[in-house]
Amino acid sequence: MKLYNTLTRQKEEFKPADPSKVGLYCCGPTVYNYAHIGNLRTYVFEDFLRRALEFNGYVVNHVMNITDVGHLTSDEDEGEDKMKKGAEREKLTVWDIAEKYAQAFLEDMDRLNLLKPTAKPKATDHIQEMIDQIKQLEENGLTYVGSTPPKGGAGGNVYYDTSKFEHYGELAQLDKQNAETCPRVETDKNKKHPSDFILWFVDSKFGDQDMQWDSPWGRGFPGWHIECSAMSSKYLGEQFDIHCGGIDHIPVHHTNEIAQAEGASGKHPWVKFWMHGNFLVLKDKEKMAKSGDNFLTLDTLIQKGYDALDYRYFCLQSHYKKELAFDWEGLDAAKTGRRRLKEKVLSLGTTEGEIHQSRIEGFADAISDDLNMPQALALAYELMDDVSINDADKLSTIKKMDMVLGLKLDEEVKVELPPEILQLILDRNKARDEKDWAKADKIRDKIQENGKWIVKDGDGGTEVIPK
Ligand code: AMP
Ligand code: ZN
Repeated sequence: MKLYNTLTRQKEEFKPADPSKVGLYCCGPTVYNYAHIGNLRTYVFEDFLRRALEFNGYVVNHVMNITDVGHLTSDEDEGEDKMKKGAEREKLTVWDIAEKYAQAFLEDMDRLNLLKPTAKPKATDHIQEMIDQIKQLEENGLTYVGSTPPKGGAGGNVYYDTSKFEHYGELAQLDKQNAETCPRVETDKNKKHPSDFILWFVDSKFGDQDMQWDSPWGRGFPGWHIECSAMSSKYLGEQFDIHCGGIDHIPVHHTNEIAQAEGASGKHPWVKFWMHGNFLVLKDKEKMAKSGDNFLTLDTLIQKGYDALDYRYFCLQSHYKKELAFDWEGLDAAKTGRRRLKEKVLSLGTTEGEIHQSRIEGFADAISDDLNMPQALALAYELMDDVSINDADKLSTIKKMDMVLGLKLDEEVKVELPPEILQLILDRNKARDEKDWAKADKIRDKIQENGKWIVKDGDGGTEVIPK
């Protein structure tokens, strides 16, 4: 398999440390609100990756964290606490907010047919692991304690001294000079260098913080980045194969994760392959943000009559490294495309035959070429339209392809038709039996008039399917 590695900015041959197993870590959601469809694009890309690895015979140990503490509105230790913001908005405790949105996220994953991670560790269940890693960094001489607490209180926050880590900024290709002199949003006078970041906040940062724990540096809570290096090391070991996230994580979050993991273990490189999904944007190129107005969730799409898998199909049509512009016409086209493909598959019957080797090899080449999913989808259509292959072989081959596409192509959709539609079907069949074509056409138009149903003439008479 060839995968694009952000670390080297090149497509490289992928070889895991253990030839049959892959350790995969994906940064998970911050559970203070619903995931927007931009977030979900990243998880759909990670699901294609996981399925492509499995298709190629690897056993994947897939870990995705749930961030339920420590993430501030800016990735750089500034702004409000996201969880607290969610709790204030809904007049719930931060713990309830975490539970509510973690559940909602898992439901979204299910609806999008995303494979369940092997482990989904929550940050708040791993405070001790984070404290241990910070202690290790302290022992290795990579930390300092801020002299002035930001808002009074006893003792200061614990900072990572990025100037002491020789590989700092390599992932983002930050030039060292630049990282030290070019200020990021800078208001914290305790920082020795602009790229330094907080490992542990003491309670002086947010005195009224609900989520607090005792630590060797005082009561407080962890910085956002430490959870991923601490938990991945617990579940995947000190070094592993692939780490994923959205492109926004490259300059700060992932850069800091590397500094923590390698600074604590002394092992370089921590992760061999870094893969990043590009953004979903709105048509005017505006970024979709959880805090903005342009906030579309999977529920919004479903309420508008789409299936979650229409959105999965929409994502399939573009390569994960390209920015993807969302608009409703595009989603309509995806809906039609998915329906067309599914109809072709359902028309094959249920008898299976042999997997067509050259077709499946072409498909394997596409997904193994840095997840060329648009090409893989085109190959699925080509298979369906190939008249030289019999239906049973086609069915077996498309089912194998669908293990990666994840579109549930051979699953019959069971739709409950409302009684009035059932009556119209009976009336239309009667009109057809009586060869009253004008009446049959009128009833067809009536069934289709609210835009929800499509009438088809099958062997057994009138068939009605959802639009
Ligand atoms: P968060 O819940 O904010 O931590 O984000 C969850 C994931 O969504 C991260 O991997 C982000 O990089 C990713 N992400 C955030 N915004 C977008 C977007 N507009 N398009 C694609 N991925 C995004
Ligand atoms: Zn992370």
